[in-house]
Amino acid sequence: MHRAEHPEIMWGLGLDPDTAALIEESAGPGFALRNLPPDAVAWMRGQEGQSQAAWIPQDAWEGLSKARRRACRSVNSVRRILIVAEGAEPLETEQVLSEGFLTAVRAPLTRYKVRDALLRLRELDSLSSDLRRKTEEVMLERELLTRKGNHLTFLNRVLSRASASLDAGTILSKARTDLRHLLPLEVMCAVFWNRADGGPGLDAEMYLHCLMAPVEHAAWEEVLLAAAERLGGAKVADCRQYCLTPGKHLRTTPAPGSGRLLMLPLSAGGESFGCLALLTQKGVRLAKDQVQTLNAAVNHLALALRNALLYRQVKSMADHDGLTRIANRRRFEERLEEEAQRHGRYELPLSLILLDLDHFKNINDTHGHQTGDAVLRGMAGLLLESLRSSDLPARYGGEEFAVILPHTSREQAVFLAERIRQRVSQRNFSETKDPVRLTVSAGVAALEPGARGQDLVSLADQALYLAKNGGRNRVVVAGPEAGTQSLGEDGERLGTEAVAVVAADQPLLAHGVM
Ligand code: GH3
Ligand code: MG
Ligand code: MG
Repeated sequence: MHRAEHPEIMWGLGLDPDTAALIEESAGPGFALRNLPPDAVAWMRGQEGQSQAAWIPQDAWEGLSKARRRACRSVNSVRRILIVAEGAEPLETEQVLSEGFLTAVRAPLTRYKVRDALLRLRELDSLSSDLRRKTEEVMLERELLTRKGNHLTFLNRVLSRASASLDAGTILSKARTDLRHLLPLEVMCAVFWNRADGGPGLDAEMYLHCLMAPVEHAAWEEVLLAAAERLGGAKVADCRQYCLTPGKHLRTTPAPGSGRLLMLPLSAGGESFGCLALLTQKGVRLAKDQVQTLNAAVNHLALALRNALLYRQVKSMADHDGLTRIANRRRFEERLEEEAQRHGRYELPLSLILLDLDHFKNINDTHGHQTGDAVLRGMAGLLLESLRSSDLPARYGGEEFAVILPHTSREQAVFLAERIRQRVSQRNFSETKDPVRLTVSAGVAALEPGARGQDLVSLADQALYLAKNGGRNRVVVAGPEAGTQSLGEDGERLGTEAVAVVAADQPLLAHGVM
């Protein structure tokens, strides 16, 4: 019925009227035949998504030019049936197919032959649509595999780059570059936390873009602190900030509210310890597989970041003295070698102060060991407040301290040592009402070209020995040039100095107060 209302078009090319009538009549009411003159071959066009049969007599086909036959063959929506002339040589199937026909029937046509040819056409059609469907399925499968492959390659890259570093800042910077392949990432900031020495508050650290404008900076801080308090379940008691170099594509860092903000909690071993904040452009929607990939990447990152933070904690414990919390001797020696090498490479000045508390044993004996400990802590605090952040104060031994002073000349180091000496002598180190006062002796040395870090320690140690021998509470500097200079020369007298220039074979200048 449906067919009769909208009959399926068949084409004929130069068919004689009897054959045309026979074909139309044999095909049945569902079909209508349009018989075109042989030179109108280009009119035969299939309809959208539906193929049509075309009946072409052998002589009409052979009468076409090669170019027209080629053009005709290229129209896939028309299924051509060759009507082989009555007395013509039989044709091989390959010959028929290579000419672009799906099948051939021999004239004279009969009702049976017409129906059989149309049936074959129908079968071929359904076979080819099956094939098409299968091909599409294979293509889809292939695409899925490619996407899975890309997903794994991406995760592998994130994981291997993250695990290659034990520095949280480096891991975050690399992750930001990698995640940009997954989503249009504008800004990535992070916050980590842990319980401060078992106390009620959280110790937090934030990684924010360097040099942010104050308004944006405050907004990012607020977002990260809120995340830490919400996920960490406590107030942030202390917070340090680290600087992440912004990506090259950004001239200024946008505020968290300027796009779509994704807050991704980080946890390892069931414990939440941080949160990544990712800002993408407004209106960005992530596909389901992108979200899965992002989650997997963040899980990988969480492990790498956790390792980096633990490594830093352990390293910090190994580098710091438990009592005073400043660098210990191990870290001092490591840093001294680093600085000595840098000094050698760039010929930068490098100086060292060794300090030894005077008659410290008496403090222990008089006030007790705990007070002695408090004095040592107080001494570390005094050093920290007297130095630049590029200097390194360290606990060298029991009541001995050392200060590495990069980019500092001998004269500047002497000046600094003298200032420390004065501050110590003026300070009351007591944590109770009984005052605790003491003095310190210092040996100063500067690195000579070609010398090693250990040479610097030996020189400063010799100077310290002389300071002790010279009566304590004084600064002695090792070195030939210093031996001819007095600190007080440029007007600022640093006390009632007893300046001693020692012999040339032991070129040391004593400078201090009794
Ligand atoms: P000098 O002026 O010659 O340096 O005399 P001193 O008493 O400072 O030097 P000495 O080497 O005789 O004594 C150092 C003392 O420092 C002895 C030791 O018990 C004490 N000491 C070392 N480490 C600590 C510590 O961690 N805590 C306390 N309370 N005392 C310490
Ligand atoms: Mg000592
Ligand atoms: Mg001492």
